Amino acid sequence: MKSDVYLVKVSSSDPNQRQAALKRIIQAKDFCANFKKEEIVPVKLTIGDTPCVYNVSPELVKIIIQEISRHQAKPFLFDTCVIYQGERQNAVDHLTLAEKKGFSYAKIGVPFIIADGLFGQDGREFVVDREDLKKVRVPSFVGMLDSLVVLTHVTGHIVSGYAGAIKNVAMGMSCRATKQMQHSSLKPSVLIEKCTKCGCCMAICPAKAITFKNEKKAFIDQSLCVGCAECLCACKFDAIKINWEEEPKIFCERMVAVAGAILNRFKNKFFINLALDITKECDCISKKGEKIVSEDFGILVSNDIVSLDQATMDLALEHKKTNFLAGVKELHQDTIDYAVQRGMGNKEYNLIEL
Ligand code: SF4
Ligand code: SF4
Repeated sequence: MKSDVYLVKVSSSDPNQRQAALKRIIQAKDFCANFKKEEIVPVKLTIGDTPCVYNVSPELVKIIIQEISRHQAKPFLFDTCVIYQGERQNAVDHLTLAEKKGFSYAKIGVPFIIADGLFGQDGREFVVDREDLKKVRVPSFVGMLDSLVVLTHVTGHIVSGYAGAIKNVAMGMSCRATKQMQHSSLKPSVLIEKCTKCGCCMAICPAKAITFKNEKKAFIDQSLCVGCAECLCACKFDAIKINWEEEPKIFCERMVAVAGAILNRFKNKFFINLALDITKECDCISKKGEKIVSEDFGILVSNDIVSLDQATMDLALEHKKTNFLAGVKELHQDTIDYAVQRGMGNKEYNLIEL
């Protein structure tokens, strides 16, 4: 059976038009209809790191909150601590940044919570049936609440080429240890002929895995590396490489396994993909002036996360001139097939344009 994916095309950057489009698509199917009176409803989002300006806007978030509140449920916003350095590495800095970026109680009308505690360690564990990922550690409300809304800004991604709803759940709804576990196959190495000894990678590495060794150039100790990919972003000389042939596939599969383990615990859920301002890098890395790699093609909503990401990628692939997914099409088809195999949803869908 096919799943329904709703689409409202939006090509304008006018905030009012975007807000109207989001309201229209949520109300069209009444996605909040299953939320009960007084029920606590978590809304997952990413506010982006400090330099990012393309993250979901507080005004769009407010539309979702108003729709949930209209059904007399009690929504809250949440994210988790990231594994790389920056202002989202611990809850104090993350909440301060949220306030600065407009995600305050005063502006949105609901609390913003860092769901995995001060340092990203607080949570509970669930077993996963994968040889290289036997358990996941996730915020402790997972398994205690019935409903979930996931709001995702669709972007490119330094490792997988595409970051959509599945990635938002897998990385954004897991504690730091599980984030690292998903990244742990992505252990990079240094091309010493390109290394200029600038030291940026060493300064940013959270695992202290980088030293200056061979010819006093950067060297990565694979036994210490946690595969966070921070050094890839830090190196401006293209001197750090990962094996793009094999490792992104393992990374994507692990994300699917983690997302599946989390989503299994929620009965009522829907997912919103904002395919607007699609930047080359994800909101963790992108900056003002970041390269926009696709036309805006609108807002997509579905109860099925697999159909939603499949439909989003299919639409992106249609835009031949700005097609940012061409090089990773097979990787993502394999990822979607793996998600179907794990019972997370359908890849066949009805695209219903409103
Ligand atoms: S060496 Fe490993 S742990 Fe250190 S920044 Fe690079 S990927 Fe992360
Ligand atoms: S950031 Fe790149 S160029 Fe600089 S030391 Fe590390 S590997 Fe070498």
